[in-house]
Amino acid sequence: MQEKDTLQRIVSHCKEYGFIFPSSEIYDNLGAVYDYGPFGAELKNHIKEYWWKSMVQMNENIVGIDAAIFMHPTTWKASGHVDGFMDPLIDNKDSKKRYRADVLLEEKIDKLKEKGEKELAKKGIDLSSSEDDKVKASRDYAKGLALEAAYKSAAEAGDLKRYKELIEAYEIVCEVSGSKNWTDVRQFNLMFGTKLGSLEETSTELYLRPETAQGIFVNFLNVQKTARMKIPFGIAQIGKAFRNEIVARQFVFRMREFEQMEMQFFVRPGTELEWFAKWKEIRMKWHLALGTPQDNLRFHVHEKLAHYANAAEDIQFKFPIGYKELEGIHSRTDFDLTEHQKYSGKKLQYFDSELNQNYVPYVIETSIGLDRMFLRVISESLKEEIVPDTGETRVVLSLPPALAPIKVAVLPLLKKDGLPEKARAIVDKLKFVGRTFYEEKDAIGKRYRRMDAIGTPFCITVDHQTLEDNTVTIRERDTMAQERIHIDQIEQLVAAKVDMNVLLRKAMA
Ligand code: ATP
Repeated sequence: MQEKDTLQRIVSHCKEYGFIFPSSEIYDNLGAVYDYGPFGAELKNHIKEYWWKSMVQMNENIVGIDAAIFMHPTTWKASGHVDGFMDPLIDNKDSKKRYRADVLLEEKIDKLKEKGEKELAKKGIDLSSSEDDKVKASRDYAKGLALEAAYKSAAEAGDLKRYKELIEAYEIVCEVSGSKNWTDVRQFNLMFGTKLGSLEETSTELYLRPETAQGIFVNFLNVQKTARMKIPFGIAQIGKAFRNEIVARQFVFRMREFEQMEMQFFVRPGTELEWFAKWKEIRMKWHLALGTPQDNLRFHVHEKLAHYANAAEDIQFKFPIGYKELEGIHSRTDFDLTEHQKYSGKKLQYFDSELNQNYVPYVIETSIGLDRMFLRVISESLKEEIVPDTGETRVVLSLPPALAPIKVAVLPLLKKDGLPEKARAIVDKLKFVGRTFYEEKDAIGKRYRRMDAIGTPFCITVDHQTLEDNTVTIRERDTMAQERIHIDQIEQLVAAKVDMNVLLRKAMA
């Protein structure tokens, strides 16, 4: 199946089964903004819970906060976002379609290199041979490398004119109009602006925060003092962030309003690279605890470091659109706190009683997009398989039980003979374990399929025998195995499987 088809299948599944809807759909949607439906909201909350508990509950030296979305506008001057949070954009004059110039160039480089590698393979040339040999043997490969070098030097110099020259020289065309009729490249700030105050003349220009991290930095001393934290310690936060993304055509992978789960870990200067390595390991373990094959996740080292970083790596996941950033782990030095000191005139230092010294701490950041995490979980759980006994195809969402929106469905076999009443009594008991679903409509097979499609780990069927001996059939989602158990056993059995601690124990092992 094509990558695009797989993403399309996920988009359709999410809409059909109440996970994610396009925003304001009745008005023909709002671009790159999405609403989470009943099952999506539950799944999202469980992902948050998994992250929050692994950070805050499991680590004595990490505390959580919930800062406001609006911040004093100087925050974004100090952080560098007002002057530097830009993407280079270019329009096609014929289709009026807007692109990111850097993305057009990067995609062209990848295409040329891929084409080149195919040529090399045909000629029997080993891909591990020297670049010189590869360049000699494939024109496309050589072109790809040449464009890469030219693009890198243009990016380093911030030379937007050169971007356009390269787009023209390498004959990049618009996918809609097919033409090479491009505007100049210009910088575009990704922050959304708004106004605070009722009077036009006196209102203050504000930004919707483009990242949650700054809410942590400006509160550094408030938190350290009130929670009596000693270095090394961390501050965690989950919250909305907003970016006016130019190209946003990849479902919840790239949204204009999204949610981040960020943790800033404050350390002694000089120890940051040690902590950077530790956090890389901790975060990878957290991801793997979900049962993901190791191959689906990899580290990607940033070639070009942001001005504030002295080390940065991404955890990439193999999304249906290829390996892409899921989480960033950055060693941000003392940049943010130092800048906030400069702009606010307030000290943001820590007194280290062991060293008897004041200093601005260094920071390791782990930053993961909740919506990207959602897409990851759905994309690795959604399966279509043939049922061995019947030969039918079934769609199943094999979510880790702790993340599943509904933990257990209770289904009376018939809508009569006291079976619904018996089933309702079971629902009432199971409510304390997690979200429960009661359904009496349609044939039992159809009801099982609906529960498979939203990832419900267990279905309980109540039949006439239940009325006689208080036993039910419990069906497990992935194996479809069915077992007869006593009503009194259900709660314990389900609770043990859907317990968030099952995941946390693996992540923290
Ligand atoms: P990208 O290079 O993909 O644009 P980024 O490097 O700008 O991402 P960061 O600023 O490091 O991303 O943000 C941290 C995390 O927030 C990312 O790893 C990602 O999971 C998430 N994120 C960033 N931008 C978006 C977005 N537009 N939509 C959804 N999630 C996002």
